[in-house]
Amino acid sequence: MNKAYIALGTNIEPRQQHLEKAIKLLVQKENIELISLSSIYETAPVGYTDQAHFLNMVLEIETSLYPEKLLDVCQAIETQLGRERTIRFGPRTIDLDILLYNDENRTSERLSLPHPRMGERGFVLIPLKEIAPNLIFPVTGKPITELVNDLPEQDKKDIHLWKKAE
Ligand code: ATP
Ligand code: MG
Ligand code: MG
Repeated sequence: MNKAYIALGTNIEPRQQHLEKAIKLLVQKENIELISLSSIYETAPVGYTDQAHFLNMVLEIETSLYPEKLLDVCQAIETQLGRERTIRFGPRTIDLDILLYNDENRTSERLSLPHPRMGERGFVLIPLKEIAPNLIFPVTGKPITELVNDLPEQDKKDIHLWKKAE
């Protein structure tokens, strides 16, 4: 069985409902098993800042799907939840990014693993550390704790625990 971490993000209301619906659709698939889910964090937008605040969280799953197939599933759920692609990094009902898939390290137009921008994103690293505190980042071999410690203070200030995992 393969282990993968998936990041969820939404900044169009009803945000929590979008997260819940995406998780439900994901775990409904018979070849995806939910192992754990992080708390929900609220995050000020990064990059394109003229938009509403995000809710972000990370899931750990086990799956027999190979990475491209898992991406198909993620993108189908994005479409199902009415995601429209207008502004890059702009508002979205749901974004499902594959952060890590086992220790895969590869780059293609459609799928890069680890997710190419995860290493500097507090809204990804903080929930990931919550559910995988001992994780060692593939490629660089850096512990997740170190990546989180290295985040700029300003980035950390923009990320707040919004709903604690049960
Ligand atoms: P970012 O990737 O910086 O978080 P985004 O999530 O808003 O931005 P999307 O519009 O969701 O970007 O995705 C753009 C493309 O990224 C997708 O069409 C997909 O093929 C590609 N992609 C590459 N690697 C990954 C990955 N690990 N997870 C999800 N999508 C990926
Ligand atoms: Mg994204
Ligand atoms: Mg995406």
